Amino acid sequence: MSDLLSYFQDRTDDIITLLTQMVEFESFSTQKKDVDKLAMFMAEQCRERGAESVEVIPQSEVGDFVLAKWNTDAPGKPLMFLGHIDTVWERGTLARRPVTPDGEGRLYGPGAMDMKGGNAIALSAIGGLVERGELPERPIWCLYNSDEEIGSKASTPLIRELAAECGLVLVMEPSTPDGALKTARKGIATYQVSVAGKASHAGNFPEAGINAIIEIAQQVLVVNKLNDLRNGTSVSVTMINGGSAGNVIPAHASIYIDSRTITQMEADRVNGAVHSLQPMLPGAEIHIEEIHSRGPMERNAQMQATFEQCRDIGKQLGITVREDSVGGGSDGNTTAAMGIPTLDGIGAVGDGLHAEHEHVLISSLPERAALCAGIIQNWVVAEA
Ligand SMILES: [Zn+2]
Repeated sequence: MSDLLSYFQDRTDDIITLLTQMVEFESFSTQKKDVDKLAMFMAEQCRERGAESVEVIPQSEVGDFVLAKWNTDAPGKPLMFLGHIDTVWERGTLARRPVTPDGEGRLYGPGAMDMKGGNAIALSAIGGLVERGELPERPIWCLYNSDEEIGSKASTPLIRELAAECGLVLVMEPSTPDGALKTARKGIATYQVSVAGKASHAGNFPEAGINAIIEIAQQVLVVNKLNDLRNGTSVSVTMINGGSAGNVIPAHASIYIDSRTITQMEADRVNGAVHSLQPMLPGAEIHIEEIHSRGPMERNAQMQATFEQCRDIGKQLGITVREDSVGGGSDGNTTAAMGIPTLDGIGAVGDGLHAEHEHVLISSLPERAALCAGIIQNWVVAEA
C-alpha cells in the first residue's frame, strides 16, 4: 500500500482545487445562508465520490448539516470523518484575503487550515480509493456540522448519536503547527451563577434588604478555591455583575465561571462543586446555570492505542505521525469522552489558527490524504 503516498502526491493539484473551492464559500458560523451553500457543495462532492446516501439535515439557527455514507450495508462498525464547515471568518474576509499560494509551499486563505483543509483531505482520500477501486467493503461516514466554532450546541446530539455506532471517529481538525495529532485536549465548562436577594432603601431600611453582592462576593471566594493549577485545573471567575442603583441594597448579582480540566474526574469534581454552592446569607437564593461544557479529551489507554495504530499505518506508508496535547477543545472532546476511539488533528498541517496568517502546508495535503486512505483500508476496530 506504500504507493498511496505517491498516488496522492501526483494529485496534489486536485486537492488544492477542492480546498480552494471550499474556501471560496465563505461560511462564518452565524451567517446561515452562506454556510448552507457550502453544505450543498459538500453534499454534491460526496455524491460525486460515490456516496450511497447523502442527507442534508436542515437546521433553523445554524447552517445545515450533511451526513454522507458509503457502503451502507457492509459489515462492521463505521469509520466516521467528522468535519465542521463553519469558520471564524465573517463574510467579506475573502475579498481581503483571497486564496493565495505563496510559491514556497504554503496556501493562504480564511478557513484553509481550520478546517477546510481537513475536509478536502478526507474527501480526497475517499475519492482516491474509489477511483482506484480500492475502497474496502466497510461503512464509511462523513458528517459535516456547521457550529463547531460557536460550541457545537446544535450538532452535539447528532454527533453523539452517530459516534455511538462508530469504531473510529476521525476529527479532521488541523494538526499542531509542527504536524502532530492532538491526543489530549482540555475540557471546558462555563457557568453563570446568579443570586437573588432583596432590594431595600440603603438609607432608610438597609436591614430590610438581602444584599446580593455580599452573597456573590462570598461565592466568588468559594469558587476560586476550586482551582488546582498544578494539576491543570483552572476555575476562573471571569465576569461579575450586580446592583441596580447607588442607594439600593442590591437584589441581583451574578458571576460567570470558566473552568478547564485535563481529566474527566476533575471536570466532575468542579461541576459537582459548582452545582452544590449554597447561599450564605439568610433569605438569599442561588441559581446555577451551565452555559456550555465539553469534557476533556484524555490521553488514556484507549487514546494511546488509537494513536499507535494510526502511527503504525503511517509508518507503512512512509509517513511519520507524532502526537501532542493542546488547551483548546474540539468535537473530538465529545466523541473521546464517550469512549469512542478518536483521532483528532489528523487534518492539514499549517499555522495561523484563527489568525490573519492562516495557511496550510501544501505537502501535508497529499500526505494526510494517503494516511486517511491507509486508515480506511487497514484500520482494525478495537473490540469494545
Ligand atoms: Zn476547527
